Amino acid sequence: MIQDKLKLEIRDIVDFPKPGIVFKDITPLLKDAALCSEMIDSIVDQLKGVAIDAIAGIESRGFLFGFLLANRLGLPFIPIRKQGKLPFKTVSESYALEYGQATIEIHEDAFKKGSRILVHDDLLATGGTVVAASKLIERLGGEIVAYSFIISLDFLKAKGRLSRFSDNIYSLVSY
Ligand code: IMP
Repeated sequence: MIQDKLKLEIRDIVDFPKPGIVFKDITPLLKDAALCSEMIDSIVDQLKGVAIDAIAGIESRGFLFGFLLANRLGLPFIPIRKQGKLPFKTVSESYALEYGQATIEIHEDAFKKGSRILVHDDLLATGGTVVAASKLIERLGGEIVAYSFIISLDFLKAKGRLSRFSDNIYSLVSY
């Protein structure tokens, strides 16, 4: 099972980036090319039957598998980045993180109005980041058709915060 393989590779880093946080580190699994392909296969499987026009990935770890997934599905990839990184005209949204505060941005011409967007990030914790990303997408007239994460920290109960945008919430492994 992919879940078991991932659980073996994902390591817990205690007190990173702040005391009291147990950080799920996905860098070990990036070294295993076969596992990364299998992960993309599994995500593609989960998304069968979901009509998607583009994949939006959140900086920076959301770019890793978000872009691979978009490429595998033959779809455009849309980067959602931290403030000040995108070169063209942007719209932005601020939010509270599990640790600290942040602002994310999207290019205002990222996709056509009415596009069906899948939002991808590596990890769902409190949901603050993807809620902000979802607001950006809705402000540009996009429809969120699904969320895809590598890891979901279910004990933080973020899925309820996403259901006002979409109930299609997938992850490969949950804790
Ligand atoms: P949320 O906004 O609280 O859901 O936090 C999710 C965001 O913070 C994602 O963009 C993650 O990349 C990052 N994040 C939070 N906790 C972790 C972790 O334990 N491992 C990796 N990324 C994390």
